[in-house]
Amino acid sequence: MISFRGILLVKGSNSDLYLLFMSVLSTSIEYLKGVGPAKADLLRKELAIYRYADLLKFYPYRYVDRSRFYKISEIAGQSAEVQVIGQISNISEEQGKGRTKRLKALFTDGENEVELVWFKGAKWIAKSLKLQQDYVLYGKPNQFQGAWSFAHPELELLSDFKQSPIKGLQPLYPSTEKLNQKGLHNKGFAKLTRILLPQLKGQLPEFFPDYFRQRFGLMLREEALFKVHFPSSLEEAEAARRRLKFEELFFFQMEMAAQKRRHQKDLQGFAFEQVGQWFNRFYEEVLPFELTQAQKRVLKEIRQDMRYGKHMNRLLQGDVGSGKTMVALMAMLMAIDNGFQACLMAPTEILAQQHYNGIAELLKDLPLKVALLTGSVKAADRREIHADLESGDLHILIGTHALLEDKVRYKNLGLAVVDEQHRFGVAQRAKLWKKNKLPPHILVMTATPIPRTLAMSVYGNLDLSVIDELPPGRKPISTRHAYDKDRNALFGFLEKEIAKGRQVYIVYPLIEESEKLDYKDLMDGYESICRAFPRPQYQVSVVHGKMKPEDKDFEMQRFASGKTQIMVATTVIEVGVNVPNASVMIIESAERFGLSQLHQLRGRVGRGAEQSYCILMTGHKLSREARIRMETMVRTQDGFEIADVDLKLRGPGDMMGTQQSGNLNLHLADLSKDGQIVEWSRRALEELLEVDPSLQRADHQGIISEFQKRKSGKVDWGRIS
Ligand code: ADP
Ligand code: MG
Repeated sequence: MISFRGILLVKGSNSDLYLLFMSVLSTSIEYLKGVGPAKADLLRKELAIYRYADLLKFYPYRYVDRSRFYKISEIAGQSAEVQVIGQISNISEEQGKGRTKRLKALFTDGENEVELVWFKGAKWIAKSLKLQQDYVLYGKPNQFQGAWSFAHPELELLSDFKQSPIKGLQPLYPSTEKLNQKGLHNKGFAKLTRILLPQLKGQLPEFFPDYFRQRFGLMLREEALFKVHFPSSLEEAEAARRRLKFEELFFFQMEMAAQKRRHQKDLQGFAFEQVGQWFNRFYEEVLPFELTQAQKRVLKEIRQDMRYGKHMNRLLQGDVGSGKTMVALMAMLMAIDNGFQACLMAPTEILAQQHYNGIAELLKDLPLKVALLTGSVKAADRREIHADLESGDLHILIGTHALLEDKVRYKNLGLAVVDEQHRFGVAQRAKLWKKNKLPPHILVMTATPIPRTLAMSVYGNLDLSVIDELPPGRKPISTRHAYDKDRNALFGFLEKEIAKGRQVYIVYPLIEESEKLDYKDLMDGYESICRAFPRPQYQVSVVHGKMKPEDKDFEMQRFASGKTQIMVATTVIEVGVNVPNASVMIIESAERFGLSQLHQLRGRVGRGAEQSYCILMTGHKLSREARIRMETMVRTQDGFEIADVDLKLRGPGDMMGTQQSGNLNLHLADLSKDGQIVEWSRRALEELLEVDPSLQRADHQGIISEFQKRKSGKVDWGRIS
């Protein structure tokens, strides 16, 4: 008997039945009639279709209704493709631009006529067109000067059309230019799928028990897989897709739940039983402000975790400036109260330095020892830190990746805080685990806002704490979208702000692929700023990735201490720097940044008491998506709202980074659009585990085998993310 908790540890207990139908589904695609070696090669390269199963899961993205025929008089008002029966006349070749030929013809349905146009392949098409024969014309009508025409329409002789096996809805498959040329367009795929499906009859058994399917209104599996390709109505297509999305999301969430359960069961952690002197003294004597309700709630959640010897693996999510660091510091004090050490790891040297400065300042009146360890710490100091760590004299160690070096050994590390997790690789985080007999509690802080539904699904294996409230008194950052022509006015505005004693960031994009050009833009920008803001009245800093770390630090420090008024930089400042006096953020070529990056950058200002500004500079020509990004930034400052838009624009795969998206294994379901099915499948899973917590019932064994089948071969990232 397999218990649900044990699933992840048990290997290869697939039923014989499953192995049996694996053989057909796993047949190499080149053996499918109509494919052959050349097409197979293309399918593999272009679409990663290797086996029958991959073709089965190559789902149509849309369907068109080919059961309805239009008269030409009905075309007006149709925005999508239409289908008309009629005959061709008046074929003529015309000279197009340059040496190109253009082919034109008239198409008549007996009452009216429309023009057909081809800009490519004129000669070949002209030869193939037949006069005085009934055709089915299919395409998207265009209106030009009051007349309707079709460019590159699909034409099929009516007699052929009648013999076509596809009645009703025609599936549309994603394709590429290369595939098109080899006949792998909509019809080509439909044909292959038509050949494939009959061979799979009886081989796609249902794994959900009947009661379950009925309870959640799910179509039978085989039926769904067939109908998703060849539905007879849009309703049927929808029902098929719903079933398939449901199962994807169901197993996805099952995996998350299993990871979480295993984590809780397997892993013991240190018990921090008391809240003692340091936490209390800090709270009463040092804490310079009242904690927000959200901060208090999160601290309680953290405390609950660490209290009873369960291992904490918690994601602390909160918008830029929401006060995560303060929460982390207080969690570290809990560790120290119980005789443990704590560390805080930051992704950059500058950020580690800032954390160190802030925390050392806050703890200066308490007899607690804090040290900073980065790559640039001198050998002698380093030795001292190592010694203090091992003797237990050092309470808090703050630093960069340097914390992960083998030489860094703790007396008893109880809590590791990791700032801005997306900068860390999984392997690096794994190293932290190995620093102790028991793994230290882990608190990962991130300012990347992830919509809640998504976070619950994607980070289902981590516990999630959210600070959803900013400290009081923050003024909204006034955000504007501007163009090159506004630059003079912008410089005038900067002069005024600087005259008031404020500082300014000007950020340029840096994308690896266009690195050279980007550096040129940055340096050009820097020079023009230096001309507009000349010395000695003004001082301008520049920071970019090609500078030595010392030089970068030097410039950052000059800016942070107010010696320079303007900081021209690439996105190196993106993460975490805190210069409360900086009140203006100018983002150049803002259209090249993603939403979450823009939001992070904007978060660099608005940290002091003054009114702050963010100006998004773009070119005039913007893609629809870029325009939405700019409008969103101007409209709102709510990280979650921004994340929602981002998710809609980019999809969750991008958002999570490739490493994790690969794991989602979602073909049809879209976490951003199928929120309802996410909810619904989660409820289904919960109900299932309620009636049969370890999935022992005979009618639930199919679910287990399917789960294992989907899981096999996947990387386990749950433990260390
Ligand atoms: P995050 O790490 O979430 O970006 P920080 O912890 O750096 O945010 O906090 C941003 C600023 O807000 C800091 O200057 C911090 O001292 C201040 N701050 C944090 N919590 C509060 C609070 N409850 N009330 C007022 N100011 C706060
Ligand atoms: Mg921060």
